[in-house]
Amino acid sequence: MCGIVGYLGNKKAAPLLVEGLSKLEYRGYDSAGVAILEDGMINVSKCKGRLKNLEERLNEKSYKGSIGIGHTRWATHGEPSDVNSHPHTNSDVTISVVHNGIIENYLKLREWLTGKGYEFLSETDTEVIPNLVDYYYKGDLLEAVMKATSKMEGSYAIGVICKNEPNKLVAVRKDSPLIVGLGEDEYFIASDIPAVLNHTRDVYLLEDKEFVVIDEKGVTLYNEEKEEITKEVYKVTWNADAAEKEGYEDFMLKEIHQQPKAIKDTMTSRINLDSKIALDKINFTKEDLNNIDRIYIVACGTAYHAGVVGKTAIERLAKIPVEVDIASEFRYREPLITEKTLIIVVSQSGETADTLAVLRDGKNKGARVLAVTNVVGSSVSREATDVLYTWAGPEIAVASTKAYVTQLIAMYIIALYFAEVKGTLSNEEILEIKKEMLELPEKVEETLKHKETLQKFASKTYMEKDMFFLGRGLDYAVAMEGSLKLKEISYIHSEAYAGGELKHGPIALIEKGTEVVALLTDENLRDKMVSNIKEVVTRGAKVMGIALEGDTESEKSLDSVIYIPKTLTILTPVISVIPLQLLSYYMAKQKGCDVDKPRNLAKSVTVE
Ligand code: GLU
Repeated sequence: MCGIVGYLGNKKAAPLLVEGLSKLEYRGYDSAGVAILEDGMINVSKCKGRLKNLEERLNEKSYKGSIGIGHTRWATHGEPSDVNSHPHTNSDVTISVVHNGIIENYLKLREWLTGKGYEFLSETDTEVIPNLVDYYYKGDLLEAVMKATSKMEGSYAIGVICKNEPNKLVAVRKDSPLIVGLGEDEYFIASDIPAVLNHTRDVYLLEDKEFVVIDEKGVTLYNEEKEEITKEVYKVTWNADAAEKEGYEDFMLKEIHQQPKAIKDTMTSRINLDSKIALDKINFTKEDLNNIDRIYIVACGTAYHAGVVGKTAIERLAKIPVEVDIASEFRYREPLITEKTLIIVVSQSGETADTLAVLRDGKNKGARVLAVTNVVGSSVSREATDVLYTWAGPEIAVASTKAYVTQLIAMYIIALYFAEVKGTLSNEEILEIKKEMLELPEKVEETLKHKETLQKFASKTYMEKDMFFLGRGLDYAVAMEGSLKLKEISYIHSEAYAGGELKHGPIALIEKGTEVVALLTDENLRDKMVSNIKEVVTRGAKVMGIALEGDTESEKSLDSVIYIPKTLTILTPVISVIPLQLLSYYMAKQKGCDVDKPRNLAKSVTVE
């Protein structure tokens, strides 16, 4: 799930490629490289580690060529190393390729090519691509790439350059994202829009198996039959600085602070006090909803945690049974999908491989698939029956924050819409929920003010080896998200448990001084949660509580407490997650971790 960039124009390619890659580093960052066509030669510079290592190398070389391809890698096949880094080339370095994805039949292809005398240097799947292109190359790069890709199984977005056609860049995608940036006398390919935004706002969003040729004529698009095709230019309306840090120390901190706006934006035009809930262009009639016998919410990671809240929201408000599942498990457990099933897939990037696979399988089986995603034009958004965008804006930090809260908002909007269409809630009840939803941005803003307290707490506890998160009901869903956040960015081992489940095993882990974060925001479950807190305190735990303003009673059982503003219980996760995000952020900072790019992780998981 790397980032790829390509450039053809009249400027020096190398700095532009590096600049583009720097905007894509969230997609992978274990190694980076570029290939530049210059004086009839392909020059490759690549190395293990962050982009800055590559930049240092490039400073020494100062390439002048104005056509090139670049890559920032998240290894799938072969450890991160100089030789496994992209770009990869054929043996006589006449063809060079950057690749995002996995070539599933690479071993077979490698064996076949080896039989034909080809030699391989790396352990990657990618290296078969330049060699396959070489095998088919008879003077027409596009033709050769078409033939090579027809032999490739799996997923790919590739950029290819060839020494014999020094003014040409060929690209194509299948199941991995790729866009084309249309500048003035200069063109780009990239895995994502931020890579080109400093240069152009006009882009093509490519579909699978659309081939791009960039040369002195500009950009020409072809279908698999090598027929020219036309495509609408997509105009990017958001700003380039939306992808920058805007004075915050890290993207994650910036994104945490953007949450009030992201929530507001996601509700805009959907939640209004004087009109019905609008689900953009999506339309479910009462009959459609009565026909649905089951909803599956399927997602991965943080999006899955949003789905857990979504399940409660839809079941409570719209009275439709909902199951929530992890995409990589769901797809192999032979779920019962029929024409009466509604699948809701949730994916920030819209490219999550397992989620996309569930979407496709579900559609094949006749289910309607509603996608909740943050990326316009992403694979999930294009392939789903219906799309509800979260308007969080680009999320760069690997650990999701604003995408999560907007996914929660999307879940509420869907639940309320279904409730309204089905008539499971009265107008007064719907109005009350809407009113409370519209107050959420302000309440989140209020909750962000706890950052100093959380920073202090983190400075005392950041050396802990373990931490536990407890909650019941929706608090448990939020506890899971809080625990994941802490693990992801601070590398502190943590677990989330449902309060009532503790005594069935996990309580054995509690000892003197164990740090516990307990959520007590559901008034109906508060007393039960207090009992669970007592159980761990008795065994020596130190407990920080997340409680509702005015709940001075709970305070007596806690070592410290963060008070959050009250809202309806069903909506509380939007607020209660904020202190947990800040806590993990400050823990990670205290430990000196790179919060935006945690080890072993990548933002958009486009491999299985
Ligand atoms: N499979 C390729 C590799 O391991 C590309 C992985 C990616 O998309 O990051 O190098």
